[in-house]
Amino acid sequence: MRETVERPSSVVDINDLPLHEISSTSSGLRIGALARMSDVGAHPAVRTRYPAIAQALELSASAQLRNAASIGGNLMQRTRCTYFRDVSASCNKREPGTGCAALHGHNRTHAILGTSEACVAAHPSDLAVALLALDAVIHLRSRAGARSVPVANFLLRPGTTPEREHDIRPGELITAVDVPAAAHTRTSGYLKVRDRQSYEFALTSAAVALHIEEDVIRSARVAVGGVATVPWRLPAVEHRLLGARPSRQLWVDAAAKAADGARSLRHNAFKAELLRRTVARQLGTVGGRK
Ligand code: SF4
Repeated sequence: MRETVERPSSVVDINDLPLHEISSTSSGLRIGALARMSDVGAHPAVRTRYPAIAQALELSASAQLRNAASIGGNLMQRTRCTYFRDVSASCNKREPGTGCAALHGHNRTHAILGTSEACVAAHPSDLAVALLALDAVIHLRSRAGARSVPVANFLLRPGTTPEREHDIRPGELITAVDVPAAAHTRTSGYLKVRDRQSYEFALTSAAVALHIEEDVIRSARVAVGGVATVPWRLPAVEHRLLGARPSRQLWVDAAAKAADGARSLRHNAFKAELLRRTVARQLGTVGGRK
């Protein structure tokens, strides 16, 4: 709004709605849509049972922003593509049909996965990557009723309609996010690689959750950020891990598949190798045997 990308005719303050609660039971975690990022990141149950979420939140934005920003707002945040925020540039996301200045412009921070000819903007949220890895579900409500959408389906790839970023309908509000409890959620973590160590968006990131029993990987969840147009799950990496014994070599072998299908642009080819290294490092951090 400050940069005149959006010019809403009216703005509604929803801060007084009773959607701030954070609760944890044996079946899972429920985070109210208006819970503050800092409160969720500091919550004892989140830190002990869902550490990937706490770490993703702590590595996001600045302390001041985390104190003010809500979980629902984080999921709805817009891209950091500089051309999207420069109203003099061509941008299909801001003005459908005008073209994409980033395709042949400065695209070092843009996506290499999930892109289209219409848009190559990377998704900015750290939290959404951790939520995707932990199979979170978003609850929505409108006058027409309530519905639930997995995070995996809520955030939309650009395709030919990059202006449509979320599966949210007119009049709908995010009310809560649920994260199911599972053996792997306790053994989870988030790694963010960026140009500077604070207040910066990810070049690459990885959320990893592993359940290891009797030295065998029984369940594995791996999602990455900074590299794709939406938070990106890595089923081929997870498949390589399942049933295997943890070892340094396994982490490298599994991570070798992390950038499969990547299509780089002029300035961001480095992201594919950086992503493989990010995933291997985080597998070692979460699974041991670094
Ligand atoms: Fe716009 Fe997407 Fe192209 Fe950026 S990458 S200029 S957001 S269409």
